[in-house]
Amino acid sequence: MLQVKQLKKAFDGFQAIADANLSVPIGEVVAVIGPNGAGKSTLFNLITGHLQADSGHIQFQSQEITNLAPYKICHKGMARSFQLINIFSSLTVFENVQTSVLAQQRLDRNFFTPSRRLLIDETLEVLDIFGLLELKDRSCTSLSYGDQKVLEIAIALGSKPELLLLDEPTAGMSSEETRKIVNLIKKLSREKGLTILITEHDMELVFDVAQKIMVLHQGTTIAQGLPEDIRNDKSVQNAYLGEAG
Ligand code: ADP
Ligand code: MG
Repeated sequence: MLQVKQLKKAFDGFQAIADANLSVPIGEVVAVIGPNGAGKSTLFNLITGHLQADSGHIQFQSQEITNLAPYKICHKGMARSFQLINIFSSLTVFENVQTSVLAQQRLDRNFFTPSRRLLIDETLEVLDIFGLLELKDRSCTSLSYGDQKVLEIAIALGSKPELLLLDEPTAGMSSEETRKIVNLIKKLSREKGLTILITEHDMELVFDVAQKIMVLHQGTTIAQGLPEDIRNDKSVQNAYLGEAG
């Protein structure tokens, strides 16, 4: 689904991404882990075109996408949620999801039918998957933080992506909200066959949901593979112990 090769990105001489390598197999949940400042969000921004790489390659479904504009990458079938909440707060839950469904279908400028009447069923289906049906007429600002985060993922899904990127989806959540997100990720993977790439600092969660893990250390990929191999990897253990000490 996705291949990242020898990716580099510096900010004013600071090498935030020094040598990132990643391969995401179709249909798997893959996690990028690493301590704060390792470069996880920067890597996501490079993959989605929100930042320009200095060198290296990114291929999505065997097509070169390195440094394409974000909207072009999105239309190829990649969607993301941001580490910070990213919703239209003046709209209802329903309207937020419908906007994203409409945008993908390019019906948002249909001259003859008011966009509100279009694709109601599809929007309701997305809301149902996410357990948001009961909240559909609520304004977004009235939702709990956890529900806002779920809504943000629903919005990302509205564009019917092949690959969904989630940057620390459980950051700042209670354990109950975290469990909800974990179940959601598993459901999207199992029932919808979605390929999912996440960053996460909670190791327990990572080992629970991911079929493959990539470890980023100071902008460099130091390991990637099966969770049990990552757990036993000496360089990973050293990097983490090094950070802790
Ligand atoms: P992570 O998501 O793993 O916590 P980030 O990708 O956010 O790490 O950041 C990696 C490093 O790059 C950090 O040292 C951060 O301060 C730096 N960085 C990130 N974005 C910028 C930017 N726009 N300008 C300058 N430095 C940045
Ligand atoms: Mg981050």
